[in-house]
Amino acid sequence: MNEKQTANETSAACKEGSGGVIDVAVIGAGPAGLTAGLYAARAGLEAVLFERIAPGGQLAQTEHMENYPGFPDGSNGFELAFAMKQHADRFGVNHVGEEVSSVDFTQNPKVLRTAFGEYRAKSVIIATGARPRKLGLDLEEELQGRGVSYCATCDGSFFRGKSVMVVGGGNTAAADAIYLSRICEKVYLVHRRDKLRATAIYHKRLEDLPNVEFVWNAVPRKLVADEGALAGVRIEMLETGEERDIAVNGLFVAVGTEPNTEFLDDALTLDETGYIVADETGTTEVPGVYAAGDVRTKVLRQVVTAVADGALCAEEAAEYLAI
Ligand SMILES: Cc1cc2nc3c(=O)[nH]c(=O)nc-3n(C[C@H](O)[C@H](O)[C@H](O)COP(=O)(O)OP(=O)(O)OC[C@H]3O[C@@H](n4cnc5c(N)ncnc54)[C@H](O)[C@@H]3O)c2cc1C
Repeated sequence: MNEKQTANETSAACKEGSGGVIDVAVIGAGPAGLTAGLYAARAGLEAVLFERIAPGGQLAQTEHMENYPGFPDGSNGFELAFAMKQHADRFGVNHVGEEVSSVDFTQNPKVLRTAFGEYRAKSVIIATGARPRKLGLDLEEELQGRGVSYCATCDGSFFRGKSVMVVGGGNTAAADAIYLSRICEKVYLVHRRDKLRATAIYHKRLEDLPNVEFVWNAVPRKLVADEGALAGVRIEMLETGEERDIAVNGLFVAVGTEPNTEFLDDALTLDETGYIVADETGTTEVPGVYAAGDVRTKVLRQVVTAVADGALCAEEAAEYLAI
């Protein structure tokens, strides 16, 4: 296959029954998957990336990133994701725009299933990333896109000049509150403890912002809607049990992420929170199957660690295929 081949041609060529067996199937085209594809293709392997939405993953939702090396003025996540895709494409990575719904790693070649058919691959790199955790409140789903958001940089501008709430205490919540303070009239930062878990640098910056109000020892209990849009959030003050209604148009939920591993069923061992158990090279318990990026057990889930994982997994897959 060559880089000019279309996704459909790739799809037809690799499907079960057509005789095609992919060297390296990469599930997920975020930073980890795109890098894995790039490294595999540069190693002379046929690499096929399966992506259910659009290449870029969470990176494509990140407006401004300050911690990816080589960009002293920061980088735009969407542009960086696009450049990563172009880079992978230049070396002949193929794309299949389908969601992998199940896998069978008990046979060789390994089998990937989508709504459109079955694919077979000699090795598989799982790079399906993670998604934001929800609060689990009534109306949360209905109000998503109508006030409830999981991505401040994506949706913040819809709340220009309005009052919003950020829930969470980690780096994402802190960064979201800082970002929103530039756009919104007022930002409530609600956290279940009495101090943030976020890196110290965020604390000082937040304390200096006049339109950010910390609401400590509190959790959201109820979403209040008006004419189909969020109008406020009822919070419970954990120390006293009192309830407080805060009128906001936007609620930004930043309480962590969950791995996209449901499609694996019991094909691989997952840790207690659902992340794939894999070592620093991405090697899992199944020979020829690797896990890269946010989806695997690791200490730091960032773009820089995701791309490093992608490179390592492709190298491991190349070594496995050379055996
Ligand atoms: C709002 C926000 C801000 C962030 N800011 C920063 C930052 O400033 N600096 C930083 O370093 N990191 C930041 N991150 C984290 C960073 O984006 C992630 O660590 C990184 O994108 C992880 O890359 P990944 O490739 O492992 O997974 P992801 O980026 O999650 O990509 C996984 C891809 O797999 C696809 N997929 C999932 N399941 C399937 C399936 N079954 N079949 C096919 N495709 C599938 C998804 O659609 C997705 O495209 C931020 C994240 C968010 C959400």
